[in-house]
Amino acid sequence: MDNNTCIFCKIINGEIPCYKVYEDEKIFAFLDIHPVNKGHTLVVPKKHAVNIYDIEESEIAEMVKTGKKLALKIREVTKAEGMNIHMNNEKAGGQAVFHAHIHLIPRYEGDGLTHWPSKGGYADGEAEELAKDISNLL
Ligand code: AMP
Ligand code: ZN
Repeated sequence: MDNNTCIFCKIINGEIPCYKVYEDEKIFAFLDIHPVNKGHTLVVPKKHAVNIYDIEESEIAEMVKTGKKLALKIREVTKAEGMNIHMNNEKAGGQAVFHAHIHLIPRYEGDGLTHWPSKGGYADGEAEELAKDISNLL
């Protein structure tokens, strides 16, 4: 999907309506149309990027900075008791819109959402090897 067909690019350009909560030179934020809880907000870069892998570091840094600012305001308005910051990447990671975005999700005690289940642990030495494999690439 390119910038011409991307639904979030269209929202940023004003071609598709949205409930905008914030905009600056680099970032756009609006209410998710199918909120987990009211106030569920999406923070997106104005410059099209697909996901965590291809977005520039400076762009995602701006997204997180804005997310921090907005989380405080969303909490104030919605009286959220908790807040999830979430990013889905690629189809298998649950990404449905292929323009990078961070979800800010207000949470409440007993709101019915559960965290991902643990799928068990590691065999002997496996975690050590895996951590080394990752850190050796850095
Ligand atoms: P993800 O699974 O992380 O790609 O999530 C995409 C999110 O975009 C979903 O939570 C949708 O509800 C939301 N969404 C899709 N279309 C729109 C739209 N036109 N306006 C606001 N939110 C949207
Ligand atoms: Zn886009």
